[in-house]
Amino acid sequence: MDDDIQAFIRRLPKAELHLHLEGTIMPATLVELSQRHDTAPITLAEAEALYQFNDFTGFIEAFKAVTRQLIGPDDYELAAWRMMQRLAAQGVVHAEVYISVGVIYMWRNHDITVFEPIFAGLERARTRAERELNLSLYWIFDAVRHFTIPEAERVFRKAAEMRPKFPSIIGIGLGGDERRCGSEPFRALYAEARAAGLRLTNHAGETTGPEAIWEALDIGSERLGHVLSAVVDPKLMEELKTRNIAIELNPSSNVRTGVCTSFAKHPLRQYFDAGLLVTLNSDDPAFFGSDLANEYLLAHEEHNFTRDELRQLAANSIRASFLPDSIKGAYLAQIDSLK
Ligand SMILES: [Zn+2]
Repeated sequence: MDDDIQAFIRRLPKAELHLHLEGTIMPATLVELSQRHDTAPITLAEAEALYQFNDFTGFIEAFKAVTRQLIGPDDYELAAWRMMQRLAAQGVVHAEVYISVGVIYMWRNHDITVFEPIFAGLERARTRAERELNLSLYWIFDAVRHFTIPEAERVFRKAAEMRPKFPSIIGIGLGGDERRCGSEPFRALYAEARAAGLRLTNHAGETTGPEAIWEALDIGSERLGHVLSAVVDPKLMEELKTRNIAIELNPSSNVRTGVCTSFAKHPLRQYFDAGLLVTLNSDDPAFFGSDLANEYLLAHEEHNFTRDELRQLAANSIRASFLPDSIKGAYLAQIDSLK
């Protein structure tokens, strides 16, 4: 193991731009949550076994079991705080984190009174991380694309309604099953969100072909998650490059869910060499046995990214973030001067 490169990666100021709060909950935190809620709490060994899935169904089951333990504002605060500690330990200086607001609504029978106290818990963790960890963080409200349009509308309008009071709510996103629902049905909602000052992200081309990525671009998505299938469409590659669209790649996630056969086969290198605004991310790190620093390390080991290229990936993550330009400039200068 190259300790030197690991230390270099940790020192690089990095932004994580594709991270689901629920996917950061480690087995030990799951045990802590279970002790709060269950008469017979789960043991650490049981929690660890839950994360040992080997297909997409197992992943969904594990994800649901974890999300079920997120009940009150204190649970969300704990999960968020643990996530932020782990980010800071990897040298992450800024993160833009998806909260599955669509799932929270669905599971609480659309009781709209539950969300704001939960969000207050998340904000307590965020402001603490700003003070104690020097980590800044924005929230992205994520809807589930196959839950119907009115469900997504509820999520996006909540983001628009809360944003004037909470500038940490930076944007919206769409997750869920792309094979069941594309982006076109959300065109009007994306336009409305943009008018409310929200930034537009979208999962596109993770389990679907390039047409899904075209569609996501066409409704105005500014930043795209996964984009795995763009590699087969040279015209699309050109479009992504010309428009300097930031892409949030999640190689280990793609390998663990089986949409990509190995890290070495991931198109990360092709995208990077083609001059796309590539960023590395960890998606659901607790479930995929990786984290952002490890994705950088794998890029070095499996795709021969040199120190300068790793530096470039870190710079891309800052550029692709929704941070103000002055802050971006300061981080970029830090990256440049890092030996
Ligand atoms: Zn994702």
